[in-house]
Amino acid sequence: YSNEDQSVLKAYEWSNKLFHHVLKHTKDGKDALNYLKNRGFSEEAIEHFQIGYSPRKDQFLSTFLKGKGFEVENLVQYGLLSSRDGNTFFDRFQGRVIFPIHNHQGKIIGYGGRSIQDDIQPKYLNSPESKFFHKGKILYNFHQARRHFQKLNQVVLFEGYADVIKAYQAGVYHAVATMGTSLSDTHVKILKQYVDEVIICFDGDSPGKEASYKSAKLVNDAGMNARVANVPNEMDPDEYFEKHGSEAFQKLIQSAESYVAFSLQYIKKNYNLNTDHDRVQYVEKALDIIATVNQAVERDFYLNELEETFKLDRSTLLQEIDSRRRIMR
Ligand code: ATP
Ligand code: MN
Ligand code: MN
Ligand code: MN
Repeated sequence: YSNEDQSVLKAYEWSNKLFHHVLKHTKDGKDALNYLKNRGFSEEAIEHFQIGYSPRKDQFLSTFLKGKGFEVENLVQYGLLSSRDGNTFFDRFQGRVIFPIHNHQGKIIGYGGRSIQDDIQPKYLNSPESKFFHKGKILYNFHQARRHFQKLNQVVLFEGYADVIKAYQAGVYHAVATMGTSLSDTHVKILKQYVDEVIICFDGDSPGKEASYKSAKLVNDAGMNARVANVPNEMDPDEYFEKHGSEAFQKLIQSAESYVAFSLQYIKKNYNLNTDHDRVQYVEKALDIIATVNQAVERDFYLNELEETFKLDRSTLLQEIDSRRRIMR
């Protein structure tokens, strides 16, 4: 790191110390602390994830950072402060709960700020992309989860901060989050260096399902084992934990189905299976998916289903699988 870079990282660290202190020990942080407690965040988790609060004051952080000797002009591009005229500097995350985002080496390189008041929009404000913070390269909680997922040879992937934190409260320590963006090739490459299996546990709503399908495909295509957890009733994993508790949460993760089982079911919505045309299209697509399975027994299992559901000839299906696998090689 250059001197300037080190100074930016220091500013992030100091700012977070301040926000964390405000949340835990000041009157300004009281509503935010209540908000977090009402949502079921434990004190221990608030500590572990170093959660904070940025009070509703224009120049709380900027005054603090100036006092520490930082050149605040330089911090605007990193999203710590904002400025309209380049002379006066304002706090960017006012009225927001602060989730510090660490790089994979454990240094704070950004914030996710969640509004706790209706008049502060949008719900989440993140640090901008910067030379330290690239959403497509960073996974939330990677630095703390690494030793766990390495040991277990499996990582659990969520959408949001709240989901990862509740997972931690449920004893699921090997969890990271994409922070709402789609899983990138870079994310997958990074994870592949540590684990063979990725369990995707996104929100139960339809965007979450769609993202599950895409992400699982990406993981599967990279030659890893992909599984998808099915969060019921359009809930978020975080809500599921609140409603059903630790044990049920762990079960939800453990019972994640394979990429193949999930996607064969999921893609059905794109076809009208009452028409011959769409039935053929679906079977073709299903064969594409089944052909990616390396274990013959597992392939057989899914082919059985196709054979029975669509009254097809087994040898034809096997031929189709064979030709697809020959191309893949
Ligand atoms: P909460 O439970 O606090 O309402 P959430 O995590 O369920 O939040 P989602 O709307 O499902 O929120 O979004 C998932 C994740 O996407 C968030 O945790 C956050 O990391 C990211 N995100 C959402 N909205 C934004 C936004 N406007 N800007 C940047 N990141 C966002
Ligand atoms: Mn969502
Ligand atoms: Mn949520
Ligand atoms: Mn969510």
